[in-house]
Amino acid sequence: MMVEKKPPLIGVSPPVEGEAGQTGTWRSERPVIDPKRCLTCGDKPRDCGLCWMYCPEAAITQGAPPTIDYRYCKGCGICGKECPSKAIEMIPENEP
Ligand code: SF4
Ligand code: SF4
Repeated sequence: MMVEKKPPLIGVSPPVEGEAGQTGTWRSERPVIDPKRCLTCGDKPRDCGLCWMYCPEAAITQGAPPTIDYRYCKGCGICGKECPSKAIEMIPENEP
């Protein structure tokens, strides 16, 4: 018997500018995704999205690889800690 695949029941609010401005202005380090390591890319792509799921600012959009909205990324590094393939490196803001 075929089992229908349903979308996950999860609510996501888009990031908005609060009283303190866009949260990206707080950042001292920025996450950079290496597509060569991201599980969603390559010859045998797999579902992942853990960075998207754990980002407290909803600054990550799912994709292959995911994209980060730096206007709202506050540089907490949670995405990098949760990435199972260590595809996300935190780079100091004063480095290109
Ligand atoms: S988890 Fe933190 S560092 Fe990663 S994209 Fe979200 S706000 Fe930025
Ligand atoms: S958590 Fe890591 S492997 Fe998974 S989608 Fe994000 S960057 Fe790719």
